[in-house]
Amino acid sequence: MCKSVFSCPVCGGALEYDDRTYRCTKNHCFDRAKSGYVNLLTSDRMHSKLPGDNKLMVRARRDFLNKGYYSGLAHKLCSLADKYCEKNFRIIDAGCGEGYYTEQIASALAEKDVSVGGIDISKNAVDFATKSGKNGVEYAAASVFHIPSEDNSADILLSVFSPLCTEEFKRVLKKDGFFFMVIPDRKHLWELKSIIYENPYENQVKDYSLDGFELVEAVDVPAEIIKLESHEDIANLFTMTPYYYNTKPEDRQKLDNIDTLETTIEFKILIYKNKGEN
Ligand SMILES: [Zn+2]
Repeated sequence: MCKSVFSCPVCGGALEYDDRTYRCTKNHCFDRAKSGYVNLLTSDRMHSKLPGDNKLMVRARRDFLNKGYYSGLAHKLCSLADKYCEKNFRIIDAGCGEGYYTEQIASALAEKDVSVGGIDISKNAVDFATKSGKNGVEYAAASVFHIPSEDNSADILLSVFSPLCTEEFKRVLKKDGFFFMVIPDRKHLWELKSIIYENPYENQVKDYSLDGFELVEAVDVPAEIIKLESHEDIANLFTMTPYYYNTKPEDRQKLDNIDTLETTIEFKILIYKNKGEN
């Protein structure tokens, strides 16, 4: 049996795993899916309000990201993770999707003997992540609102375009542990929004303060113009955005006949330290 980065969602105890199952000392047992991820969503938490991305959305995001459009962000995240990471750190990617950033970070930090866990409420997402993963990351279906990790156990916690639950993040992080959050900057996807909306507005960059956390640095990932050269890529990008959920069909149709798009991408990576206060 191997020691897991995750803990038992029923009793909170440490988990160990083999090829087939995860098990805690109290004998709560969780089967691994065929691909290898473990489902740690307990039945009372399955009916979360979070929709969990369906297969189509997961595939759209994977296809888009695998073309490297957001590789600048991934590189910057890796170099920052390396800057803050020490040997044997435990890292949790809260809302890891299909593991695009998780895998690159695990690979960049491989020499530091880190243990990396990725969780996502979407089983489709962690299924993809496990199938394509090659960096020893453990993946679990779990909610970022109920992270299957012991108190004060993680050294770095990541949230890349994923729902925030700062109370839960504080619980899981060690005192002085780091929380990395990625947010879209002002002009992110401006040209895409200009096609869809009559009066697009820039993303609001608000005050960065987070209760119980100290902002260590706010790093700009320099703006880039990406060139999308097929309708499929444009549709995949749109599917990844929050606009996918709240755009009227007549506005959405404006993308139907577009085969090329040049649009700005612009991000900020915010790095916080957990003050360890309750
Ligand atoms: Zn247990």
